[in-house]
Amino acid sequence: MKAFEATQSYFHRAADLLDMPDNMRRLALTAKREVQVQVPIERDNGDVATYIGYRVQHNNARGPMKGGLRFHHEVDLDEVRSLAMLMTLKTAVVNIPYGGAKGGIAVRVRDLSRRELQRLTRKFVDAIHDIIGPDIDIPAPDMGTGAEHMAWIMNQYGKYHGFSPGIVTGKPVELYGIPGREEATGRGVGIMTLKTLSRLGRKPQDTTVAIQGFGNVGSHAAKFLQEADCRVVAVSDHTGACYNPAGIGVMDAIRHANANEKLLTGFCGAERISNDELLALDVDVLIPAAIGGVITAENVDSIKAPVIIEAANEPIRPEADAILDDRGVIILPDVLANAGGVTVSYFEWAQNRQYYTWNLDRVRQELDRVLSQAFEAVWDLSRERDTPLRTAAFMLGIQRVAKATMLAGLV
Ligand code: NAD
Repeated sequence: MKAFEATQSYFHRAADLLDMPDNMRRLALTAKREVQVQVPIERDNGDVATYIGYRVQHNNARGPMKGGLRFHHEVDLDEVRSLAMLMTLKTAVVNIPYGGAKGGIAVRVRDLSRRELQRLTRKFVDAIHDIIGPDIDIPAPDMGTGAEHMAWIMNQYGKYHGFSPGIVTGKPVELYGIPGREEATGRGVGIMTLKTLSRLGRKPQDTTVAIQGFGNVGSHAAKFLQEADCRVVAVSDHTGACYNPAGIGVMDAIRHANANEKLLTGFCGAERISNDELLALDVDVLIPAAIGGVITAENVDSIKAPVIIEAANEPIRPEADAILDDRGVIILPDVLANAGGVTVSYFEWAQNRQYYTWNLDRVRQELDRVLSQAFEAVWDLSRERDTPLRTAAFMLGIQRVAKATMLAGLV
């Protein structure tokens, strides 16, 4: 099952419980605009290389469209379409005044130099600048992109439209960014994990955690959870995983990765295992924080963790989701679990427009407040309607978007 088909299947499950008519479903499932562009760049050696870029603007019923920009070789229109729709639901679930969008370029980041990546990012802005904007669609970092790319986007967009810091979020703190944006998604994953444990009557100090992916999200989630007394026993990157039942030294792992092109290869103090073995570890909490579709019908029987926190987008395929649900596994869905990033992006964007900045304590405090409200709303709805947390989150998001659509009117 492809990504968008998977998202649609979750959507229909929630829409059935809401008795949503077919015409409204069609409206909710159709993207407002989908753009595919050619992005040619000159390589450092003088050759020309051509990449394909996408921007899908799914829905703006609740506000300007918002969503990350992903650089990864597996990016395609189907995946971007699916992620754009998840953004519409995510911003609605955490109740911030945005719609949903997503973008990406199909590129193997490690094959390009920093200068080539900068040319690629700027050429992409050249191709889409007239359909994005601080009140239209605001990109942000995602897999393979970070603060530096956002600075290039702001600069390139400014050449066409003048000074516009609110065109993009996740910028460097020194360039209209906000303290705490970089850690926000991982921190939010940590906050959500502690809330889930608390609802299940479990203590952090009795909890073991395995995290797949040690990039922005995985590393910050690992740091937060270790500081909260959880025992992080395994972490990984795309080359493999590190496992130590006594606990990984997360700060040592972060320092190692920072000094080794973000890789854990060669990290001491842990046994080397594969990513598949990490997913199958007998831990209390499993956090997939890398790519989509890592838990499938093929490997679901090997999954032992009773709690899964979806830090990555769409890490569990629907066939596997149904099996895990039957087994009573608690799954905190992506639209809630990784919403910390877009929440702090909203703070950044709002402040860019007021030329005012919060300090880190205030950002963390407000993040905690917004995420706590969303968590309680989804958890309570799930108990009230006796549905999995994913269905409850989709129901909450769909209802809020539908309400805004109806209030504004279609004519
Ligand atoms: P990143 O590029 O910083 O890190 C990705 C990590 O995953 C790296 O450690 C990489 O080695 C690893 N990885 C890649 N392919 C893998 C594979 N096949 N098997 C195992 N590990 C693999 O990306 P990120 O920003 O941390 O994003 C991770 C996930 O979180 C993505 O699904 C992204 O959509 C989601 N997300 C990110 C943000 C954000 O603010 N960055 C917000 C919401 C959701």
